[in-house]
Amino acid sequence: MNAADEPARRRIDPRDDVALMDGYHSPQVDVKVRLNTNEAPEPPPAAFTERLADELRRIDWNRYPDRAASELRAAIADLHGVRADQVFAANGSNEVLQTVCLTYGGHGRTVAVFEPTYALHSHIARLTGTAVAAGERNDDFTLDMSEVERVLAESAPAITFLCSPNNPTGLVETEETVRAVLDRAPGLLVVDEAYGQFAPWSALELVDDDRPLVVTRTYSKTWSMAAGRLGYLVGPSWLVRDLDKVVLPYHLDTFKQIAGRVALDYRHEMDQRVAALVEERGRLTAALQDLPLEVWPSGANFVLVRPRRADGEEVWQQLLDRSVLVRNCASWPRLEGCIRITIGTSEEDDVLLAALQEVLT
Ligand code: PMP
Repeated sequence: MNAADEPARRRIDPRDDVALMDGYHSPQVDVKVRLNTNEAPEPPPAAFTERLADELRRIDWNRYPDRAASELRAAIADLHGVRADQVFAANGSNEVLQTVCLTYGGHGRTVAVFEPTYALHSHIARLTGTAVAAGERNDDFTLDMSEVERVLAESAPAITFLCSPNNPTGLVETEETVRAVLDRAPGLLVVDEAYGQFAPWSALELVDDDRPLVVTRTYSKTWSMAAGRLGYLVGPSWLVRDLDKVVLPYHLDTFKQIAGRVALDYRHEMDQRVAALVEERGRLTAALQDLPLEVWPSGANFVLVRPRRADGEEVWQQLLDRSVLVRNCASWPRLEGCIRITIGTSEEDDVLLAALQEVLT
């Protein structure tokens, strides 16, 4: 083929702001012990997967799904004792957060976050053209109310994000703090409770049609369904109606709607697993405290640590060399040298502890 016949090679540039962005960095590598993305260590109960296999055969695959996901919303509403019109579901809680930003954020609007916190809050905000105002947490990662007031006054955010338990610190915001931020925030308050089941209290009890507050939850952690990509929020019904206008039609496929509904029939088993993970968190935390590590108390299914005498990134690499993958938090604001460890099975945690012992001492 001569040069004149060659198809022209063309590339186009993304939006200027996207060109400057970093993608999402959490390596997916093949390891024996995977403790980096806060998934449940066990698959869902066998009875659940068997029922789903039956349901699969009954689906009208040639038909679009129920656009309103009515049965799923009703089941989630029942779980939390709210009305179905207060529930909005999407493909993972990240898509819920994206829909919130598309609806209430956008050009000329701002979201407020308090670092360190879940990186996707500001990332999703920016992707939707929303500006980000970042406040700083105290040294112990609690919220400083005067800093909250400063950020809210300076940026008048359309959306304020809290994350409780906070990823990656594990800190649970108190009810007093959530109420204080809710009173002061001029726009919507989002409390991201991806790890809410592991915490002693939930902001779900504050949700009301007369308050601009939503609480987001996910099936990816407690429900052992990270592969299924399903999350939801509970909030005022007027807000759910706004989100329904923005999200793409038929965004939740029929299979996922069924999976989400059927999973809730196994809430007793899930509660038992949460209790077991909370107990294992206690055991792991105590063992980590015996190593030369700074360990932050956690209300989630992970623990944040910082090696006292070794370089965090090197420790992360040396664990990986031993086929143990944890989360390297070095690029997170204020978390130089920190590592986040997901609570695994006791066997997995023992492998991690032995590897850490070897690396650190
Ligand atoms: N919020 C927080 C705080 C998270 O840690 C995660 C998962 N890493 C998510 C939301 C997103 O969860 P998913 O999209 O899997 O529901």
